[in-house]
Amino acid sequence: MVGRALLAVVAAATLAGAAAGPAAAAAGRAPSAFDSAAARYDVPRDLLLSLGWAQSRLDQGAVGRGGDCGVMQLSVGRTLPVAEALTGLSRGDLCGSEAANVAGAAAVLRFYSDRDGLSSAARSDVNRWYGPVARFAGPVDDSIARLFADTVYDQLAAGFAGPARVAARPVAPERGRFEDVPAWGTASERSPDHPPAVWAPAHKDNYEVANREKSGPIDFVVIHVTQGSYAGTIAWFKNPESEVSAHYTFRSSDGAVTQSVREKDIGWHAANKDYNARSIGIEHEGFIENPAWFTDAMYRSSAALTRILTREYGIPRDRKHIIGHGEVPTADHTDPGPYWNWTYYLELVNGNFLKGTGIVDTPTGRLNVRGGPGTGSPVVGSVADGTKVTIFCQRAGSKVTGTFGTSTVWNRIGMDRWVSSTYLRTSQPGFIPRVPRC
Ligand SMILES: [Zn+2]
Repeated sequence: MVGRALLAVVAAATLAGAAAGPAAAAAGRAPSAFDSAAARYDVPRDLLLSLGWAQSRLDQGAVGRGGDCGVMQLSVGRTLPVAEALTGLSRGDLCGSEAANVAGAAAVLRFYSDRDGLSSAARSDVNRWYGPVARFAGPVDDSIARLFADTVYDQLAAGFAGPARVAARPVAPERGRFEDVPAWGTASERSPDHPPAVWAPAHKDNYEVANREKSGPIDFVVIHVTQGSYAGTIAWFKNPESEVSAHYTFRSSDGAVTQSVREKDIGWHAANKDYNARSIGIEHEGFIENPAWFTDAMYRSSAALTRILTREYGIPRDRKHIIGHGEVPTADHTDPGPYWNWTYYLELVNGNFLKGTGIVDTPTGRLNVRGGPGTGSPVVGSVADGTKVTIFCQRAGSKVTGTFGTSTVWNRIGMDRWVSSTYLRTSQPGFIPRVPRC
């Protein structure tokens, strides 16, 4: 894989990369690491940031499945050795320093763009980098490479804010040969078990075909976190070397879902033969170390599935039967980890949230949603006038004067999403009977 053309670039990159020493690494902050890598390898900075966002939510501490490392999740089997060759940096440097990790990813992308014949002028156009980004996904099916690259461009279009901020912009990626590959889910088969899911079967060596009538009942739902991207996880289950699979995988950004193993068959996700045989395994895109991955959208669509599974298989909706991978006896994993919100997930699975509803009534057209029960908490979104919202629980917070007078009551309408009660038309003003206090 590492051929002559690569070695020529290695020499050039090593010279150009002379600044990538400990001093650059010590600079630390994501934006400067991205600025310098972008400048050194002539890769658009915001494209690098969007790739980093897709791979790790810009978290250098992300520890990936199989040793994939750093903010760009350089992969042991694919991009890491290429980055080593291109930059002359060691694996320890590339994984240990954010500056080196980003530079390594930029070097790999630049190498791929040179192979595609991108000119200097073309390199300044973010839309021309689709091919190199798709190749960064590694040796995966074209449909998964397209999913991977589309994710990066979708995020670039939508913009994002985290450790670094990228403003929304129009994008029109030139997909080249990937233009003929259907976008994920548009032409693929739907799941025969759960129609919202895209059906993308795992490799036949990664699960066991079963007859549940013979192998016994399904007693558990096992909750996992992927330690890798949505696309990478679906690809991992298709890779016969992985010898693992889960039934379903959910995407962080919007709660989209793909099924890899039929419910009647036995996924290899719990590292415990007995529990595998008696459970459905559900993966969630993210890293256990970073709560930013655990979005309301993902909790809701995952819980909607678990609500169906528990009804269908007669599984009690409690923490004895809806368990984390780390709770499986003999488990050597700890997912979903300390940031997974079990209380909220079980609320959703049990439908407790049906206790309260309200209709947004605001003269300004949209009502701010805040991260806590008070006007001092940051605005995390908004809901349009006339929207019906579910009230999970209520508590006293800061005083607000609005449509229905003055009130100190705040409503939690999602995970860490709060609105003042004075802009909600409810069965009664203030605290609503039957709605729990938060
Ligand atoms: Zn797991």
